Amino acid sequence: MNVLEELYKYKGSNNIAMVCNDNSITYKELWEESDKLASYIKVNCEDDHTPIVVYGHKNPRMLVGFLGCVKSGHAYVPVDITVPRSRVESIIDTVKPPFILTTESLDSYQEYKIINILEDKAIQSTDPCINQDDYVKDDSVYYIIFTSGSSGVPKGVQITYSDLNHFVEWGVTLGRNEKLNKTFMNQAPFSFDLSVMDLYLSLVTESCLYSLEKSVQSNYKVLFDKLKNSGINVWVSTPSFADVCLADASFNQDLMPGLELFLFCGETLSNKTAESLLSRFPKAQVYNTYGPTESTVAVTEVDVTEEVLQKYSVLPVGKAKPGTEIIIMDGNEEMPEGEKGEIVIIGNTVSAGYINDEHGNQTKFFTYDINGVNQPAYRTGDKGYYKDGYLFYCGRIDLQIKLHGYRMELEDVESSLMKVEHVEKAVVIPVYENDVVKYIKAFCIYSGEMESDFKTQKVIKNKMKEFVPDYMIPRKIQFVKEIPMNVNGKADRKKLMEIEK
Ligand code: AMP
Repeated sequence: MNVLEELYKYKGSNNIAMVCNDNSITYKELWEESDKLASYIKVNCEDDHTPIVVYGHKNPRMLVGFLGCVKSGHAYVPVDITVPRSRVESIIDTVKPPFILTTESLDSYQEYKIINILEDKAIQSTDPCINQDDYVKDDSVYYIIFTSGSSGVPKGVQITYSDLNHFVEWGVTLGRNEKLNKTFMNQAPFSFDLSVMDLYLSLVTESCLYSLEKSVQSNYKVLFDKLKNSGINVWVSTPSFADVCLADASFNQDLMPGLELFLFCGETLSNKTAESLLSRFPKAQVYNTYGPTESTVAVTEVDVTEEVLQKYSVLPVGKAKPGTEIIIMDGNEEMPEGEKGEIVIIGNTVSAGYINDEHGNQTKFFTYDINGVNQPAYRTGDKGYYKDGYLFYCGRIDLQIKLHGYRMELEDVESSLMKVEHVEKAVVIPVYENDVVKYIKAFCIYSGEMESDFKTQKVIKNKMKEFVPDYMIPRKIQFVKEIPMNVNGKADRKKLMEIEK
């Protein structure tokens, strides 16, 4: 599989590559406009191949931005409008792009030039001068996606072109039906790696990416109207998003008669969710896939059939894709089937590491000898075990959590809380309901004047919006005089979680 070669085949196609509300782009337009943008980048950057930040939301011209970058030999860094300003700045500081491409307005930052892809006349008037030799090479970085980091600074995961190609080659085989000229749902923002699944599986099959804006996703009436008229065949989302839709009885095959495949990734898929989907969508298959951004979206799959549902009260995350080995380790020792340990992913989609993060790369990435060949490997921090040849996921070994499908490090939330004036100390814990994180709660030592508990919470939450996305703002903040410590002198999260039960 070679993503750009596949797209080349559709360069004259008038089929829609992506649609969002009234905006759409055909394959032909996508090819030609990205050629122009790539030419512009080539002329202006010459031998500088630093990654380029592409900022925006669900505008189809975001794809022009992504392809323009890679066709000119630059990795792209997708940043969604929901990322708060201070994080955008931190990403720019890490990447140091030659300029920033946008489809939405973005206030200036330092000396960085901001180029609006939709309006820039210089791009439109550039003569195409791009050829395949300019494209990103197999082992070069193709995109960088930033995720929450425990130090409070987002981590940039570098995915190479060959990682992506290996992922896509496998991804298109999921499900019983061939995927040519289908309609794929895009729910996740482009700054989340789940979007890579719908975007590239759609593009290489000359399908239409049907994108749901953030505002649509939070308005049921509009959302269901859109879903009804979308013609979506392949649904790609976190299980949380499907749960939101399942709350409405009209979410069924009558609403979406063409729906034939659900692809889930990013968090636990419950039996209940899978069961409801299979009964409401009798024509559809439900797939559970698993993987972190650091190994290009997903590396395992299982078709959740009635049989699988009957057999397992907790669903497996599946079997590894070709080119990937997954082992369970306890320290440096490999665990046998049935024993729990850390899930380690080895193989051809493991990231080239974090950008500018020596410490993270040394602790998380290593090489592992498989049949005499050293392969890249990644310690996920996920706990798991094997049974019947299936991989099962059973939580984290560190302080990373998933809330409604969003990945975050609790320390990241804490360090953002402590940026708020008078918050002297903060400890954040996940609050579970039926083994699923329902919300996060903070315990804070606050040294300022408090008019009322409620008002202070509000002030803190508002201030946090400057540092973290909304989903990382604790639902509850409890003010305490001291934080309990464990024997190691660390905040005793266990104790705090016990109190919350
Ligand atoms: P992200 O990098 O945002 O895709 O998050 C990756 C993390 O999400 C993994 O390390 C797991 O902790 C969790 N995850 C991904 N897929 C699944 C799944 N199918 N079931 C349970 N947890 C998952």
